Amino acid sequence: MKIEDKEILSVWKKVLNIIKPQLPEATYEMCFASCEPTKIDGNQFFIEVSNMFVKGMIIDKHKILIEGILSGLMGFAVSLDITIRTTPILTRKPENEKKQKKKSINKKPAGIPLNPKYTFDSFVSGKSNEFAYAVSNAASESPGKLYNPLFIYGGVGLGKTHLLQAIGHHILERKPKTSLIYVSAEEFMNDLISSIKNKNTPEFRKKYRKADLLLMDDVQLLAGRIQTQEEFFHTFNELFQRNKQIVLTSDRPPKRLAQMEDRLVNRFEHGLIADVQPPDLELRIAILKKEAEDKEVEVTEEILAYVAERVESNIRELQGAFTRLVAYSSIEKSFITRELVDRILGDLIKFKKQKINVEYIKNLVADYYEVTVADLISKKRSNKITHPRQVAIYLIRTILDLPLQLIGEKFGGRDHTTIMHSISKIEDMMNRNLEFKNEIEIFEKNLSI
Ligand code: ADP
Ligand code: MG
Repeated sequence: MKIEDKEILSVWKKVLNIIKPQLPEATYEMCFASCEPTKIDGNQFFIEVSNMFVKGMIIDKHKILIEGILSGLMGFAVSLDITIRTTPILTRKPENEKKQKKKSINKKPAGIPLNPKYTFDSFVSGKSNEFAYAVSNAASESPGKLYNPLFIYGGVGLGKTHLLQAIGHHILERKPKTSLIYVSAEEFMNDLISSIKNKNTPEFRKKYRKADLLLMDDVQLLAGRIQTQEEFFHTFNELFQRNKQIVLTSDRPPKRLAQMEDRLVNRFEHGLIADVQPPDLELRIAILKKEAEDKEVEVTEEILAYVAERVESNIRELQGAFTRLVAYSSIEKSFITRELVDRILGDLIKFKKQKINVEYIKNLVADYYEVTVADLISKKRSNKITHPRQVAIYLIRTILDLPLQLIGEKFGGRDHTTIMHSISKIEDMMNRNLEFKNEIEIFEKNLSI
């Protein structure tokens, strides 16, 4: 089949319009901003991305969704093929424009702007999150006084970032002059690294230490980063001593933060710790009701309950599933019915329910590094294969926590010392190479959903 370029572009634009509202802005930007559709061949739809990392992310997180949408739009089963761009994109910004952009990035204040949607008003509370909700509210009524630090932890997509930012909004509303920093631990780290590179760490310190309110997201990402922890420790102390409110989120409680200095863990435990749990059915329905209201979608309560029963894992998924249904019902100009729910969410649920096991991780890693699963378990020893093999072994050990011997068996009968060696090789690399460490952490994050 030969389809005109224009047509490919228009199909791809439709896909992007559907997925954009379902993803956090940063993810969308990272994965799709520079993605380009290249051709359609038979039932394969080809896109080009900028690097392996983005390819891995799309394969792991978005491929099934995109294929579903493409199939819906084109009327037959479409599979997505992702290649890595070897030539630069033609629509590059002119040089001077780029330079200007760079300048303004350097000047930007610390942290990331708050998302206007993440307020207490838009937060639906239920059994699983009401404690975290209540203490977040209280902390923003009297910042620095009641709970300092406030430490919110819980799984992916359960509303930690939402609550953290809601605290920021609330405090700003009451005291607009508050100097607030909302930053992810990762951004804090990158900021530190670039300040070291540019030899202006004093400025970095000043920026963070003069804040009235520090909201740090995903503090678990500081694990293993000794220098950043050291820096953060001093920032923390300075703010704490001046009674400035600090709020932290994490995917696990302080005690379970591995590779985190004891003195930091102690500080984290010093204030109040609140968790968010996966939403029960009642809360899931309440959230969907709110979504339907906000989007002005006509849908019966029975259907909302039907959807809520099927998407249990987390609130982001639930909202994503609903957005998808709304998108399809508008494309097909029909109401959301049970039949549509079954058809559209069927795949998604099957995919999510799929247990993350040895084979799943092997496939993911092989796909990411563009080798085969057979290569991974083979005796081949070229670096192109040894490296992905070691990554797969490392991930299987850390995520599935299987005995070394069993992992050896799953990799062509290697003995447990070889497995141990692979794991320490990866750990070593992670300590030496930050970019690689990030890469592994993204794998871990994706696999722990
Ligand atoms: P986390 O930071 O825990 O991974 P987020 O705060 O990013 O999760 O939440 C994921 C999505 O779910 C966001 O769009 C957020 O607005 C929404 N969300 C989470 N919890 C709630 C809630 N209780 N009420 C309304 N929306 C919620
Ligand atoms: Mg978050």
